Amino acid sequence: MRNYDRRIPLYLNKNPYDINGTEDIFLGAVRQNLFYHILHNPEYARIVEAEMKLNGMSGKRLAAKAVEKIRKPCDISLIPPIPTALFKRRNIRTMDSRKMLIKATSSGTKGKRSEMGYDLDTIIFGAALTFRLGRFHGLFSAKPANYIMLGFEPHPSNKTVIAKTQRISSFFAPPLRKSYALKYTKSGYRLNAEGVLRSLCSFERSVFPVRIIGFPSYFYFLLKKLEASGKRLSLPKGSMVLLGGGWKSFEGIKVDADELRRLSKHILGTDGACVREFFGAAEHPCLYCSCKNGHFHVPIYSRVLIRDEKNLEPLSYGKEGLLNLITPIAESIPLLSVMTDDIAVLREGKDCGCGIQTPYFEIVKRVGLPEIVTCAQSAYDLVGFGG
Ligand SMILES: [Zn+2]
Repeated sequence: MRNYDRRIPLYLNKNPYDINGTEDIFLGAVRQNLFYHILHNPEYARIVEAEMKLNGMSGKRLAAKAVEKIRKPCDISLIPPIPTALFKRRNIRTMDSRKMLIKATSSGTKGKRSEMGYDLDTIIFGAALTFRLGRFHGLFSAKPANYIMLGFEPHPSNKTVIAKTQRISSFFAPPLRKSYALKYTKSGYRLNAEGVLRSLCSFERSVFPVRIIGFPSYFYFLLKKLEASGKRLSLPKGSMVLLGGGWKSFEGIKVDADELRRLSKHILGTDGACVREFFGAAEHPCLYCSCKNGHFHVPIYSRVLIRDEKNLEPLSYGKEGLLNLITPIAESIPLLSVMTDDIAVLREGKDCGCGIQTPYFEIVKRVGLPEIVTCAQSAYDLVGFGG
């Protein structure tokens, strides 16, 4: 019989930003997760053995010695961060794939994919943290809404994480009508830009709020298209914009959260705080929801480290480096500490002013790996949206 699951109290905690009050719980869950992966995943154990300088050890002894090194919160940086590129090249599962109830891929049809699998516990914890964060940020509403989905219409052939999360977001308020920017047809996905614009104008006249869900780049293109045609809308009270999936290959035209909110207010008549962005990754099944000032604060379920690009040493607040994400959520795959391709900077919570005290991070840019072609880019190639 397995020991008590130390992740449980983390997800039972009511305040998703009470980092000080949950520090010991988080550390306990990290230690347990590290122990589990070393014991059940020989490939991961070899990485730990080398990176944590525990040469010659294996099995329970290696697991115990590695966990012994993680005593204080700052010791978490000693856990070797696994580059997301490694998950794309190799299959380093800890659990038998039959136990993985949800399989997902990190990017679309052209990019290199991470084949991720989540077991039942991970799915339950993921749902719990989504609920806690959604409730904290006021994203749930009992009032039905009309949806503009700036992404893919669901289809069994589309297994990307972003398609799944966009679909989940479309149930935060009961859906009345949904209009998709990328409709699935017999010949694959097809752009429905005119249909989306028509729906938006018709939804504007409804008494029910509108919810716009999708990639930030698509939302920007939509706003620009409306601006170019001289349209000014006034969406019903309570309307909301929920964005996710990042800018990725559209980094070149990226506008910051403030500019997006300003444009949205100007063209759609939305309150600035109603534009929220999510951050997450297939290799890091934790969720970050931007605060009313547009910042990704770190919730109690994860930690964020910024590491020097050359020597991987952890950096202090305000310094740019590689984004290292840590969460003990999964036992199916060693996602405990992953190194992304993003260059980011971490800032102190008090610098934001929204009231959330935990640090927040800003993505500065992606490291230019040519093979990274994202789902947003594939969709864009498909149809030339926004032209
Ligand atoms: Zn904030």
